[in-house]
Amino acid sequence: MAREHPATDGPVSADRSLEAVIAGWDGEAVATRFDHETGAWLFVAFHDTTLGTPNGGTRMRVYDRPVAGLEDAMRLAEGMTRKWAVLGLPFGGGKAVLAVSRWPEPAEREGLLLRYGRLLETLGGSFQTGVDMGTTPEDMLVIGRVTRNVHGVEFETGAMIDPGPFTARGVLRGIEAALEAVFGDPSPDGRRVLVQGVGDVGRPLAGFLAERGARLLVSDVDEERAGRVARELGGEVVPPPEVVGRACDVYAPCAVGGILTRETIPRLACRIVAGSANAQLGEPEDADRLHERGVLYAPDYVVNAGGAAAFGLLSLGERDEAAILARVDGIGDTLEEIFHAATERDESPVEAARRKVEAILGGRRATVQSH
Ligand code: NAD
Repeated sequence: MAREHPATDGPVSADRSLEAVIAGWDGEAVATRFDHETGAWLFVAFHDTTLGTPNGGTRMRVYDRPVAGLEDAMRLAEGMTRKWAVLGLPFGGGKAVLAVSRWPEPAEREGLLLRYGRLLETLGGSFQTGVDMGTTPEDMLVIGRVTRNVHGVEFETGAMIDPGPFTARGVLRGIEAALEAVFGDPSPDGRRVLVQGVGDVGRPLAGFLAERGARLLVSDVDEERAGRVARELGGEVVPPPEVVGRACDVYAPCAVGGILTRETIPRLACRIVAGSANAQLGEPEDADRLHERGVLYAPDYVVNAGGAAAFGLLSLGERDEAAILARVDGIGDTLEEIFHAATERDESPVEAARRKVEAILGGRRATVQSH
């Protein structure tokens, strides 16, 4: 079942025109289709193909205006360019948004997904996609009836692959790298870790942390879910309004974005922020605010890249689980490098990660131009 009210991590309305948004973007192209049957707008944003064919999820979401969906697609495609670069995988940044004006009924949804699949087929393999907020592995099976340019499902068996545990494993490695950087010891044993949102990523993350002896704090707007996870894993429930000021070693946001802002950062009572939520910073300056407060922040697109790493490798034909897990675990090494570079230059890890991405893309562009 599709989630009716999925976690939100970006703006939902915009007041610019489609022309202004497209003309003002530094990405490469946008493919658009208006779906007459449902009134939905389908956007596929291609941000940067330097490293390879664009590969990114398909989001379905209700927007006030289609242009907000286009802006979401562009912003998320930019994030994918950075994510593939730090993962060292040969894909470009791309993302699709199915901007609906209301949640479609099941039959309408199927028709919409099939028409979207035909759009992907028309694009002839120049965009590879999978699940994102608002879409499910079941949706990918529907799309897969008309195109093979979807991943995360095994077409032969119909089996679906859940990215959540891979993402959670990458976040765990990121938390360990951050603990090493702050306390000189990567072990979560005895550390207080607050997991905000115990869904597809937060629940397995909480499990990994509990296994490693962390003192677990869990929070979720779904109180019953938070209570269940706390009971199962031996943690304590933190009511959602108390998350920001709650004393802990690690705050792991695994629900909504936009939680690190000029209002919340002064109230944080943690040493580390490392979690899966996308777009955690309210605005770019928040990275410096965290740095000035002495809170080590793991850039979201680096620490939450475990699911992308697994799906990227699967779409390249990798079937060796150990090889996939090793790539996910590499997120810890990447963050260690980023934290080290940030410390050397007394800058935020966000800035260090940005320089790393620019060096990778710039190096690749120079190689391409010299041939
Ligand atoms: P999910 O919908 O499965 O789980 C989110 C959980 O957060 C739910 O239990 C929900 O009740 C809870 N929640 C929602 N708003 C909340 C709030 N304000 N406070 C506390 N809890 C709240 O989502 P997910 O797949 O686990 O993804 C979580 C975040 O991680 C999202 O921002 C997503 O974009 C990001 N992310 C997920 C993956 C993945 O592999 N699933 C990969 C990269 C990034």
